[in-house]
Amino acid sequence: MGEIKKNIPLSSQDITDLEIERVVNVLKSPILSRGPELKEFEERVASYIDVPYAIAVNSGTSALHLAVKALGLKEGDEVITTPLSFIASTSCLMMERVTPVFSDVDLETGNLDPAQIEEKITSKTKAILVVDYFGYPCDMDKIMEIAKKHNLYVIEDSCEAIGTEYKGERVGKKADIATFAFFPNKQITTGEGGMIVTSNKKIAKLCRSMRHHGSADNGWAINERIGYNYWINELSCALGCVQMQRIDEILKKREKVANTYIDKLKDMPGIRLPPKLPDMKVSWYIFFIQVDQKIRDDLIKYLQERGVSSREYFPCIHTQPFYKEKFGFTGGEFPNAEKFSKETIALPFYSNLKEEDINYVVKNLKEGLNYLKEKGNN
Ligand SMILES: *Cc1c(COP(=O)(O)O)cnc(C)c1O
Repeated sequence: MGEIKKNIPLSSQDITDLEIERVVNVLKSPILSRGPELKEFEERVASYIDVPYAIAVNSGTSALHLAVKALGLKEGDEVITTPLSFIASTSCLMMERVTPVFSDVDLETGNLDPAQIEEKITSKTKAILVVDYFGYPCDMDKIMEIAKKHNLYVIEDSCEAIGTEYKGERVGKKADIATFAFFPNKQITTGEGGMIVTSNKKIAKLCRSMRHHGSADNGWAINERIGYNYWINELSCALGCVQMQRIDEILKKREKVANTYIDKLKDMPGIRLPPKLPDMKVSWYIFFIQVDQKIRDDLIKYLQERGVSSREYFPCIHTQPFYKEKFGFTGGEFPNAEKFSKETIALPFYSNLKEEDINYVVKNLKEGLNYLKEKGNN
Protein backbone atom coordinates (compact mmCIF):
# COMPACT_ATOMS: atom_id res chain seq x y z
CA MET A 1 0.00 0.00 0.00
CA GLY A 2 1.28 3.43 0.89
CA GLU A 3 0.90 6.67 -0.97
CA ILE A 4 2.69 7.08 -4.26
CA LYS A 5 5.86 9.07 -3.82
CA LYS A 6 5.61 12.39 -5.57
CA ASN A 7 8.40 14.48 -6.97
CA ILE A 8 7.74 18.13 -6.21
CA PRO A 9 10.36 20.62 -7.40
CA LEU A 10 11.51 23.58 -5.34
CA SER A 11 10.54 26.08 -7.98
CA SER A 12 9.10 26.25 -11.47
CA GLN A 13 8.39 29.03 -13.92
CA ASP A 14 4.94 30.17 -15.09
CA ILE A 15 5.06 30.19 -18.90
CA THR A 16 1.94 30.26 -21.08
CA ASP A 17 1.28 30.10 -24.82
CA LEU A 18 1.49 33.90 -24.88
CA GLU A 19 5.18 33.81 -23.92
CA ILE A 20 5.89 30.94 -26.32
CA GLU A 21 4.24 32.69 -29.24
CA ARG A 22 6.07 35.93 -28.61
CA VAL A 23 9.47 34.29 -28.34
CA VAL A 24 8.86 32.27 -31.52
CA ASN A 25 7.94 35.49 -33.31
CA VAL A 26 11.28 36.96 -32.36
CA LEU A 27 13.00 33.90 -33.80
CA LYS A 28 11.18 34.50 -37.07
CA SER A 29 12.20 38.18 -37.09
CA PRO A 30 15.51 39.60 -38.29
CA ILE A 31 16.45 41.12 -34.91
CA LEU A 32 17.75 38.80 -32.18
CA SER A 33 19.39 41.39 -29.98
CA ARG A 34 19.18 45.11 -29.09
CA GLY A 35 15.78 45.61 -30.68
CA PRO A 36 12.17 46.52 -29.92
CA GLU A 37 11.60 43.77 -27.31
CA LEU A 38 14.39 45.22 -25.18
CA LYS A 39 12.92 48.69 -25.42
CA GLU A 40 9.44 47.53 -24.48
CA PHE A 41 10.71 45.36 -21.61
CA GLU A 42 12.57 48.34 -20.14
CA GLU A 43 9.56 50.59 -20.54
CA ARG A 44 7.27 48.08 -18.87
CA VAL A 45 9.52 47.71 -15.84
CA ALA A 46 10.13 51.47 -15.55
CA SER A 47 6.42 52.14 -15.60
CA TYR A 48 5.64 49.29 -13.16
CA ILE A 49 8.19 50.57 -10.61
CA ASP A 50 7.33 54.18 -11.45
CA VAL A 51 10.83 55.38 -12.26
CA PRO A 52 12.05 57.26 -15.36
CA TYR A 53 14.88 54.86 -16.26
CA ALA A 54 15.22 51.10 -16.53
CA ILE A 55 18.23 49.40 -18.12
CA ALA A 56 17.96 45.71 -18.93
CA VAL A 57 21.06 43.51 -18.65
CA ASN A 58 21.89 39.82 -18.87
CA SER A 59 21.68 39.02 -15.14
CA GLY A 60 20.89 40.42 -11.73
CA THR A 61 24.57 40.15 -10.91
CA SER A 62 25.48 42.28 -13.96
CA ALA A 63 22.89 44.82 -12.80
CA LEU A 64 24.51 44.98 -9.36
CA HIS A 65 27.98 45.26 -10.87
CA LEU A 66 26.94 48.21 -13.04
CA ALA A 67 25.24 49.82 -10.04
CA VAL A 68 28.51 49.70 -8.10
CA LYS A 69 30.45 51.05 -11.11
CA ALA A 70 27.92 53.77 -11.90
CA LEU A 71 28.20 55.19 -8.38
CA GLY A 72 31.97 55.36 -8.82
CA LEU A 73 32.68 53.01 -5.91
CA LYS A 74 36.30 51.86 -5.94
CA GLU A 75 39.16 50.28 -4.03
CA GLY A 76 39.45 51.71 -0.51
CA ASP A 77 35.75 52.56 -0.27
CA GLU A 78 33.54 50.80 2.24
CA VAL A 79 29.95 49.77 1.68
CA ILE A 80 27.73 48.63 4.52
CA THR A 81 25.72 45.57 3.58
CA THR A 82 23.96 42.45 4.84
CA PRO A 83 25.61 39.08 5.39
CA LEU A 84 22.23 37.36 4.92
CA SER A 85 21.83 37.21 1.16
CA PHE A 86 22.66 35.47 -2.06
CA ILE A 87 26.39 35.81 -2.68
CA ALA A 88 25.99 38.24 -5.61
CA SER A 89 24.96 41.18 -3.40
CA THR A 90 28.47 41.17 -1.96
CA SER A 91 30.50 39.82 -4.88
CA CYS A 92 29.47 42.90 -6.90
CA LEU A 93 31.53 44.91 -4.39
CA MET A 94 34.45 42.51 -4.44
CA MET A 95 34.60 42.74 -8.25
CA GLU A 96 35.56 46.40 -7.83
CA ARG A 97 37.76 45.80 -4.76
CA VAL A 98 35.28 47.74 -2.64
CA THR A 99 35.31 46.57 1.00
CA PRO A 100 32.03 45.08 2.21
CA VAL A 101 31.29 45.98 5.83
CA PHE A 102 28.66 43.60 7.12
CA SER A 103 26.04 44.69 9.60
CA ASP A 104 23.59 42.37 11.35
CA VAL A 105 19.95 41.89 10.39
CA ASP A 106 16.63 42.14 12.13
CA LEU A 107 15.74 38.66 13.33
CA GLU A 108 12.12 38.93 12.27
CA THR A 109 12.47 40.07 8.65
CA GLY A 110 16.04 38.98 7.89
CA ASN A 111 16.76 42.45 6.53
CA LEU A 112 19.47 44.92 7.63
CA ASP A 113 18.65 46.33 11.04
CA PRO A 114 18.79 50.13 10.63
CA ALA A 115 19.62 50.53 14.33
CA GLN A 116 22.97 48.77 13.82
CA ILE A 117 24.09 50.58 10.68
CA GLU A 118 25.36 53.91 11.99
CA GLU A 119 28.01 52.39 14.24
CA LYS A 120 29.59 50.82 11.14
CA ILE A 121 30.02 54.12 9.31
CA THR A 122 33.61 55.39 8.95
CA SER A 123 35.25 58.12 6.89
CA LYS A 124 35.62 55.53 4.12
CA THR A 125 31.95 54.57 3.96
CA LYS A 126 30.41 55.57 0.62
CA ALA A 127 27.17 53.61 0.39
CA ILE A 128 24.70 51.23 1.98
CA LEU A 129 23.73 48.21 -0.09
CA VAL A 130 20.45 46.77 1.17
CA VAL A 131 18.76 43.56 0.07
CA ASP A 132 15.00 42.97 0.13
CA TYR A 133 15.55 39.43 1.32
CA PHE A 134 12.98 36.77 0.35
CA GLY A 135 10.78 39.55 -1.05
CA TYR A 136 10.50 41.36 2.27
CA PRO A 137 11.12 45.09 1.89
CA CYS A 138 13.85 46.80 3.91
CA ASP A 139 12.90 49.64 6.20
CA MET A 140 13.72 52.13 3.47
CA ASP A 141 12.54 55.27 5.28
CA LYS A 142 15.07 54.64 8.03
CA ILE A 143 17.79 53.55 5.58
CA MET A 144 17.35 56.66 3.43
CA GLU A 145 17.38 58.87 6.54
CA ILE A 146 20.72 57.40 7.66
CA ALA A 147 22.11 57.72 4.13
CA LYS A 148 21.05 61.34 3.88
CA LYS A 149 22.49 62.24 7.28
CA HIS A 150 25.88 60.76 6.37
CA ASN A 151 25.84 61.65 2.68
CA LEU A 152 25.88 58.03 1.45
CA TYR A 153 24.48 56.38 -1.65
CA VAL A 154 21.93 53.61 -1.35
CA ILE A 155 21.87 50.58 -3.65
CA GLU A 156 18.79 48.42 -3.24
CA ASP A 157 19.16 44.80 -4.32
CA SER A 158 15.51 44.02 -5.05
CA CYS A 159 16.40 40.92 -7.07
CA GLU A 160 14.03 38.84 -4.92
CA ALA A 161 11.34 41.47 -4.60
CA ILE A 162 9.77 42.70 -7.82
CA GLY A 163 6.25 43.83 -6.93
CA THR A 164 6.88 44.08 -3.19
CA GLU A 165 5.36 47.18 -1.68
CA TYR A 166 6.73 49.27 1.16
CA LYS A 167 4.23 51.76 2.58
CA GLY A 168 2.14 51.60 -0.58
CA GLU A 169 5.04 51.99 -3.02
CA ARG A 170 6.77 49.32 -5.07
CA VAL A 171 10.36 48.69 -4.02
CA GLY A 172 13.18 49.95 -6.21
CA LYS A 173 12.12 53.57 -6.34
CA LYS A 174 13.56 55.11 -3.20
CA ALA A 175 17.22 54.10 -3.54
CA ASP A 176 19.70 55.88 -5.82
CA ILE A 177 19.80 52.72 -7.86
CA ALA A 178 18.02 49.37 -7.56
CA THR A 179 18.25 46.02 -9.29
CA PHE A 180 15.94 43.18 -10.27
CA ALA A 181 16.70 39.67 -11.49
CA PHE A 182 14.88 37.23 -13.75
CA PHE A 183 16.46 33.82 -13.23
CA PRO A 184 13.78 31.10 -13.53
CA ASN A 185 13.29 30.82 -9.75
CA LYS A 186 12.38 34.51 -9.40
CA GLN A 187 8.82 35.83 -9.49
CA ILE A 188 9.08 36.47 -13.24
CA THR A 189 11.74 35.19 -15.58
CA THR A 190 13.65 35.89 -18.78
CA GLY A 191 15.74 32.71 -18.50
CA GLU A 192 18.69 34.77 -17.36
CA GLY A 193 18.35 38.52 -16.99
CA GLY A 194 18.40 41.58 -14.82
CA MET A 195 17.29 45.20 -14.68
CA ILE A 196 18.68 48.39 -13.21
CA VAL A 197 16.19 51.09 -12.22
CA THR A 198 17.00 54.67 -11.23
CA SER A 199 15.60 58.16 -11.24
CA ASN A 200 19.03 59.63 -11.91
CA LYS A 201 19.66 60.43 -15.57
CA LYS A 202 23.44 60.43 -15.23
CA ILE A 203 23.45 57.02 -13.56
CA ALA A 204 21.15 55.65 -16.25
CA LYS A 205 23.45 56.96 -18.98
CA LEU A 206 26.52 55.44 -17.35
CA CYS A 207 24.79 52.06 -17.04
CA ARG A 208 23.75 52.10 -20.70
CA SER A 209 27.29 52.93 -21.71
CA MET A 210 28.90 50.23 -19.56
CA ARG A 211 26.39 47.65 -20.77
CA HIS A 212 27.81 48.33 -24.21
CA HIS A 213 31.60 48.24 -23.83
CA GLY A 214 31.74 51.74 -22.35
CA SER A 215 30.64 53.37 -25.55
CA ALA A 216 29.92 57.05 -25.96
CA ASP A 217 26.30 58.08 -26.32
CA ASN A 218 26.02 57.97 -30.08
CA GLY A 219 29.43 56.59 -30.86
CA TRP A 220 29.56 53.51 -33.02
CA ALA A 221 33.08 52.67 -31.94
CA ILE A 222 34.07 55.41 -29.49
CA ASN A 223 34.70 54.07 -26.00
CA GLU A 224 34.79 56.51 -23.09
CA ARG A 225 35.29 54.08 -20.23
CA ILE A 226 35.76 50.43 -19.37
CA GLY A 227 32.63 48.55 -20.22
CA TYR A 228 31.19 45.11 -20.61
CA ASN A 229 28.93 43.17 -22.87
CA TYR A 230 25.96 42.93 -20.52
CA TRP A 231 23.27 43.04 -23.24
CA ILE A 232 20.23 40.80 -22.87
CA ASN A 233 18.93 39.25 -26.08
CA GLU A 234 15.54 39.80 -27.73
CA LEU A 235 14.27 36.28 -26.94
CA SER A 236 14.72 36.91 -23.24
CA CYS A 237 13.20 40.37 -23.49
CA ALA A 238 10.17 39.03 -25.38
CA LEU A 239 9.66 36.54 -22.57
CA GLY A 240 10.11 39.38 -20.07
CA CYS A 241 7.52 41.57 -21.84
CA VAL A 242 4.80 38.94 -21.52
CA GLN A 243 5.82 38.09 -17.96
CA MET A 244 5.49 41.80 -17.10
CA GLN A 245 2.11 41.89 -18.84
CA ARG A 246 1.05 38.99 -16.59
CA ILE A 247 2.85 40.05 -13.42
CA ASP A 248 -0.26 40.91 -11.40
CA GLU A 249 -1.77 37.52 -12.21
CA ILE A 250 1.48 35.69 -11.43
CA LEU A 251 2.01 37.46 -8.11
CA LYS A 252 -1.60 36.81 -7.12
CA LYS A 253 -1.19 33.11 -7.82
CA ARG A 254 1.98 33.03 -5.75
CA GLU A 255 0.24 34.84 -2.93
CA LYS A 256 -2.56 32.30 -3.01
CA VAL A 257 -0.09 29.42 -2.73
CA ALA A 258 1.68 31.16 0.17
CA ASN A 259 -1.61 31.74 1.97
CA THR A 260 -2.62 28.11 1.44
CA TYR A 261 0.65 27.01 3.07
CA ILE A 262 0.15 29.45 5.95
CA ASP A 263 -3.37 28.23 6.50
CA LYS A 264 -2.34 24.57 6.59
CA LEU A 265 0.76 25.17 8.73
CA LYS A 266 -0.48 27.74 11.18
CA ASP A 267 -1.19 25.28 14.01
CA MET A 268 1.80 23.04 13.45
CA PRO A 269 4.10 23.05 16.49
CA GLY A 270 7.84 23.49 16.07
CA ILE A 271 7.82 25.82 13.08
CA ARG A 272 7.86 29.56 12.59
CA LEU A 273 5.95 30.95 9.63
CA PRO A 274 7.05 33.94 7.53
CA PRO A 275 6.22 37.13 9.41
CA LYS A 276 3.24 39.26 8.52
CA LEU A 277 4.10 42.92 8.78
CA PRO A 278 2.08 46.12 8.61
CA ASP A 279 2.75 48.69 5.89
CA MET A 280 4.08 46.15 3.43
CA LYS A 281 2.94 43.78 0.76
CA VAL A 282 5.28 40.91 0.11
CA SER A 283 5.83 39.68 -3.42
CA TRP A 284 6.46 36.04 -2.61
CA TYR A 285 9.86 34.90 -3.86
CA ILE A 286 10.13 31.65 -1.93
CA PHE A 287 7.99 30.14 0.77
CA PHE A 288 10.10 29.55 3.86
CA ILE A 289 9.58 28.27 7.36
CA GLN A 290 11.97 28.21 10.26
CA VAL A 291 12.72 25.32 12.57
CA ASP A 292 15.17 24.51 15.36
CA GLN A 293 18.61 24.57 13.73
CA LYS A 294 19.48 21.24 15.38
CA ILE A 295 16.96 19.43 13.16
CA ARG A 296 16.97 21.67 10.09
CA ASP A 297 19.36 19.70 7.88
CA ASP A 298 17.85 16.34 8.85
CA LEU A 299 14.40 17.65 8.04
CA ILE A 300 15.52 18.82 4.60
CA LYS A 301 16.98 15.37 4.00
CA TYR A 302 13.80 13.67 5.25
CA LEU A 303 11.70 15.76 2.84
CA GLN A 304 14.05 15.22 -0.08
CA GLU A 305 13.92 11.46 0.42
CA ARG A 306 10.15 11.68 0.03
CA GLY A 307 10.27 13.68 -3.18
CA VAL A 308 9.77 17.09 -1.60
CA SER A 309 12.51 19.42 -2.78
CA SER A 310 13.38 21.77 0.02
CA ARG A 311 16.50 23.80 0.61
CA GLU A 312 18.40 25.74 3.25
CA TYR A 313 18.57 28.90 1.13
CA PHE A 314 21.99 30.34 1.70
CA PRO A 315 24.58 30.22 4.40
CA CYS A 316 25.58 33.73 5.47
CA ILE A 317 28.05 35.37 3.11
CA HIS A 318 30.70 35.94 5.79
CA THR A 319 30.72 32.18 6.47
CA GLN A 320 31.44 31.30 2.85
CA PRO A 321 34.98 29.90 2.39
CA PHE A 322 36.24 32.79 0.26
CA TYR A 323 35.09 35.43 2.77
CA LYS A 324 36.40 33.49 5.77
CA GLU A 325 39.80 33.31 4.19
CA LYS A 326 39.88 36.87 2.93
CA PHE A 327 38.53 38.65 6.03
CA GLY A 328 39.19 36.15 8.83
CA PHE A 329 35.57 35.56 9.78
CA THR A 330 35.06 32.49 11.95
CA GLY A 331 31.27 32.58 12.33
CA GLY A 332 29.45 34.11 15.29
CA GLU A 333 30.06 37.70 14.15
CA PHE A 334 26.46 38.31 13.06
CA PRO A 335 24.28 36.24 15.39
CA ASN A 336 20.90 37.27 14.00
CA ALA A 337 21.85 36.62 10.38
CA GLU A 338 23.40 33.28 11.30
CA LYS A 339 20.39 32.18 13.33
CA PHE A 340 17.97 33.21 10.58
CA SER A 341 20.04 31.40 7.99
CA LYS A 342 20.50 28.19 10.01
CA GLU A 343 16.81 27.87 10.83
CA THR A 344 15.42 28.48 7.36
CA ILE A 345 13.91 25.87 5.05
CA ALA A 346 12.47 26.84 1.67
CA LEU A 347 9.58 24.60 0.65
CA PRO A 348 8.42 23.88 -2.92
CA PHE A 349 6.93 27.12 -4.17
CA TYR A 350 5.68 28.34 -7.55
CA SER A 351 2.54 29.89 -8.95
CA ASN A 352 1.11 26.65 -10.37
CA LEU A 353 1.75 24.52 -7.28
CA LYS A 354 -1.38 22.39 -6.84
CA GLU A 355 -3.23 22.12 -3.56
CA GLU A 356 -2.81 18.32 -3.51
CA ASP A 357 0.93 18.84 -3.78
CA ILE A 358 0.85 21.39 -0.96
CA ASN A 359 -1.02 18.77 1.10
CA TYR A 360 1.69 16.24 0.32
CA VAL A 361 4.41 18.67 1.43
CA VAL A 362 2.52 19.53 4.63
CA LYS A 363 1.88 15.87 5.47
CA ASN A 364 5.54 14.94 5.03
CA LEU A 365 6.66 18.01 6.94
CA LYS A 366 4.47 17.04 9.87
CA GLU A 367 5.69 13.43 9.80
CA GLY A 368 9.28 14.58 9.50
CA LEU A 369 8.98 16.91 12.48
CA ASN A 370 7.44 14.13 14.58
CA TYR A 371 10.03 11.61 13.51
CA LEU A 372 12.92 13.95 14.34
CA LYS A 373 11.36 14.95 17.65
CA GLU A 374 11.06 11.32 18.71
CA LYS A 375 14.56 10.59 17.51
CA GLY A 376 15.82 13.58 19.52
CA ASN A 377 14.06 12.35 22.66
CA ASN A 378 15.66 8.93 22.49
C1 LIG B 1 18.91 36.25 -7.69
C2 LIG B 1 19.63 37.28 -6.93
C3 LIG B 1 20.57 38.12 -7.55
C4 LIG B 1 20.93 38.06 -9.02
O1 LIG B 1 21.09 36.82 -9.51
P1 LIG B 1 21.38 36.47 -11.04
O2 LIG B 1 21.35 34.99 -11.02
O3 LIG B 1 22.71 37.04 -11.37
O4 LIG B 1 20.31 37.06 -11.89
C5 LIG B 1 21.16 39.10 -6.77
N1 LIG B 1 20.88 39.25 -5.48
C6 LIG B 1 19.98 38.47 -4.85
C7 LIG B 1 19.68 38.73 -3.41
C8 LIG B 1 19.35 37.44 -5.55
O5 LIG B 1 18.49 36.64 -4.92
